[in-house]
Amino acid sequence: MNPGTRLAAWPAKSGGTGETSWAGGTFAPGGRQAAAGILGDVSWLERAACRGMDGPLFFGPDGEARPDLEIREAKAKAVCQRCPVRGLCLDFALRNSIRYGIWGGLNAEERTRERRRRARRPYAA
Ligand code: SF4
Repeated sequence: MNPGTRLAAWPAKSGGTGETSWAGGTFAPGGRQAAAGILGDVSWLERAACRGMDGPLFFGPDGEARPDLEIREAKAKAVCQRCPVRGLCLDFALRNSIRYGIWGGLNAEERTRERRRRARRPYAA
């Protein structure tokens, strides 16, 4: 697994100039459409509580020990709890079938369960 794949859509750093930096590059507000064409609307990232935080808090290393994983995920989820775009983030991860990391306050297993739940009840999301 390529960590770059996991982090491709991560708002790793805040540019402070109206641009959002991702692990995979930087897009300015004027260039948002290019990113949107690939991933869908990502303007909500500008309001993300995790913006500017370290990606590794949300994306653990391969082979991470269970206790470390649980501690890290709990810290990441605590950030998500206070995030104003949590629902949009979760929808984005589900729509793009993102398999790694914490998105919308859920880890990959939890998102799989959420995806199945929504498939059973498509109007209850
Ligand atoms: S819900 Fe969590 S992962 Fe998603 S943008 Fe907000 S803080 Fe970041």
